[in-house]
Amino acid sequence: MTAYDPDNIFAKILRREIPSHTVFEDETALAFMDIMPVVDGHCLVIPKVAARNIFDVEPEDLAALVKTAQRVSKAACRAFQADGHTLRLHSETSGGQEVFHIHFHVLPMKTGVPLRPRVMGDHAILARHAAMIHEAL
Ligand code: AMP
Repeated sequence: MTAYDPDNIFAKILRREIPSHTVFEDETALAFMDIMPVVDGHCLVIPKVAARNIFDVEPEDLAALVKTAQRVSKAACRAFQADGHTLRLHSETSGGQEVFHIHFHVLPMKTGVPLRPRVMGDHAILARHAAMIHEAL
């Protein structure tokens, strides 16, 4: 198992070394918009503890993260009038993970609306979407 790298991009977001569009924050977690959203409202929920993925996260930290992910997911679905939802957790490269700080993808889904290809999001739109989810919390 590879060790946690404290210089991964989400650790830098947690330390406010790089900017993000914050949706929610408390003492255990941070939620912010994915920079390449595959659906409107696509955001990420990360813990403040250092964990790489499903393999090294402490069960109680994962439980707390799931709780926050559920709360953010419900708010995102309300904000975007989604009738469905997908929660994703990738672990290691073979599992689709690119950033090695554990995170859930929150994807509000609408009937008949497929996921888009990944392209860099517009910052003004991401800021507006973050505010919409925050208001729905
Ligand atoms: P994963 O494949 O589960 O590791 O997903 C990593 C996600 O992080 C991708 O969907 C990226 O678009 C997203 N991402 C990478 N860098 C940033 C960033 N600086 N701010 C927000 N999202 C990011």
